Amino acid sequence: MTFAYTPEAPLDCPLCPRLVAYRQANAIEEPSWHNAPVRSFGSDDARLLIIGLAPGRGGANKTGRPFTGDWAGDLLYATLDKYGFSRGIYDQRPDDGLVLIDAMITNAVRCVPPENKPTGEEANLCRGFLVKRLQALPQLKVMVCLGKISHDNTLKALGVRLKEAPFKHGAQYTLEGPNGPITLIDSYHCSRYNTNTGRLTTAMFEAIFDQVRSLLPQ
Ligand code: SF4
Repeated sequence: MTFAYTPEAPLDCPLCPRLVAYRQANAIEEPSWHNAPVRSFGSDDARLLIIGLAPGRGGANKTGRPFTGDWAGDLLYATLDKYGFSRGIYDQRPDDGLVLIDAMITNAVRCVPPENKPTGEEANLCRGFLVKRLQALPQLKVMVCLGKISHDNTLKALGVRLKEAPFKHGAQYTLEGPNGPITLIDSYHCSRYNTNTGRLTTAMFEAIFDQVRSLLPQ
């Protein structure tokens, strides 16, 4: 039977047995948490789509909103605010009143994977949701892919061969999307590991959003 993908995964999505088992184990340990596929956050008329890797166990998996609940969103939401893509103050909780403007955040893999590492098969299975997400954004012009897994999954979602657009921080590619051309911009993931080690600095991340704003003037 073919699975009927939609832009957002059903909360009981059964496709990845390992991740379903991890969701269920987390639900026993932390029954008040979300513990389900995390919905994209933002507006359906967004021109900018930010594509992360997967929910963090005590972050989006806890709160149900991407990059929310732990440190993972600190740099991302501060940068979105600085560049005019949000209104309100991010406060690590989904009821902080934050609103995205002209932007949406999603993940290549919608369920939390153990040790933040989805398998290739899990990324493949979840890609159908990303394909539908892209189709459902008629104004989409720019995507920021956070890390190589996000980058690779996005290329595959658009039917682009990986060697045609290799991952590189700051690289920019114009690709054919379902609703017209889209510019893909690569960034190292804004994870705590990358920011703590200096692999990704605030200045480097803001330079990515300089690129975004040059393509999407306010
Ligand atoms: S990762 Fe994606 S495909 Fe796999 S169970 Fe979760 S929502 Fe479904």
